[in-house]
Amino acid sequence: MKKNIFVSFFLFTSFLFAQETYLHCGSIVDVKSGKTLSEKTIVVSGKIVKSIQNGYKTGNAGDKVIDLKNKTVLPGFIDMHVHIESQSSPQSYIERFTLNDADVAFQSTVYAKNTLMAGFTTVRDLGGTGVNIALRKAINKGTVIGPRIFTAGKAIATTGGHADPTNGMKGSNMGDPGPKEGVVNSPEDGKKAVRQRYKDGSDVIKITATGGVLSMAKSGQNPQFTIEEIKAITETAKDYGMLTAAHAHGDKGMQRAVKGGIKTIEHGTLMSEETMDLMIQYNSFLVPTITAGKQVTEKAKIPGYFPEVVAKKASDIGPKIQGMFRKAYKKGVPIAFGTDAGVFPHGENAREFGYMVEAGMPLMKAIESATITNAELLGMGDTLGQLKEGFLADIIAVDENPEQNVKTLENVVFVMKEGQVYKSE
Ligand SMILES: [Zn+2]
Repeated sequence: MKKNIFVSFFLFTSFLFAQETYLHCGSIVDVKSGKTLSEKTIVVSGKIVKSIQNGYKTGNAGDKVIDLKNKTVLPGFIDMHVHIESQSSPQSYIERFTLNDADVAFQSTVYAKNTLMAGFTTVRDLGGTGVNIALRKAINKGTVIGPRIFTAGKAIATTGGHADPTNGMKGSNMGDPGPKEGVVNSPEDGKKAVRQRYKDGSDVIKITATGGVLSMAKSGQNPQFTIEEIKAITETAKDYGMLTAAHAHGDKGMQRAVKGGIKTIEHGTLMSEETMDLMIQYNSFLVPTITAGKQVTEKAKIPGYFPEVVAKKASDIGPKIQGMFRKAYKKGVPIAFGTDAGVFPHGENAREFGYMVEAGMPLMKAIESATITNAELLGMGDTLGQLKEGFLADIIAVDENPEQNVKTLENVVFVMKEGQVYKSE
């Protein structure tokens, strides 16, 4: 009894004098206005930004002060396209046969940590084995350090399509994967595959609307879904409140995806002007993944890095992404920042900013696409993507002004997620 009173008293006082954190920010990027403000204090209480004040303020004796006076402070970044379970290497193809789920799980915790330490406090994972769902749960529980994850679980493909899990296997191992495994061949299959993902715990739906680069298949760009199949998938996903994404390199499959109601087009490599217009009309977003294009182009030059069938596609498709992005941005296609991390090492996600700027997108617009735009797409526009009173305290900092040196974004020195500091150099 006595102990209980003591505990209640303790809880009461700690409530009264809850420790707050005062971040003294030399420069702070206000993404909404596109302006960099100087000398501000962000007051963080629990998981939330309590206020942003002019000048450098301090609270009560018990409060914590973090000195970021010679840093530029930004909201945590959001990457709309990662594969958090894996990281491409010459061993990737054999590892499909040798790694257990537990092996995948252990390595994914390292990738998750690297991602968070790079300032990406939220990611959308666009396909793995299902370990990604377990990883999300572990991060939410606090057992594992990593970004907030919205995951597709296993991506949805058609037979032999990009993301058919038995592509490239010998006949006796191919079997006949179905909707449960993420392989569909009719609108009915499509509905079942979406419902199965909902049951599995996926947050979003990913389809592979065309061939892809890294799969063991000939075409990297042919359409692989009918529009009826795509519509069945997007309509079902809508019923369950799930955002839809389509991997697409070829133009025809991309058009079907946009007309079929897919919200984000991933890569978009061979997008025609007609499809760009369609995307504007449908308000579909391009997730450019330029970094992945650069990476596969580079790696395809190393003999034996990729299987032959993959190397050919990589050197054909990889170099075209940035040029397409340049045109699409100029034309007014909505852009959502995303990199395809996993194709290149996790934690290098911020390389994308440099490539976007190089292709003509102003830095502030690129940052907006990685914060406000992505938060809104994920249905988190009221709590994520801005440094603002009442928003979740996802706060990062870099050494230099990114408008003078975009590369500084690749070297994040401070990371806070939901009010907790994970990195402070
Ligand atoms: Zn991908």
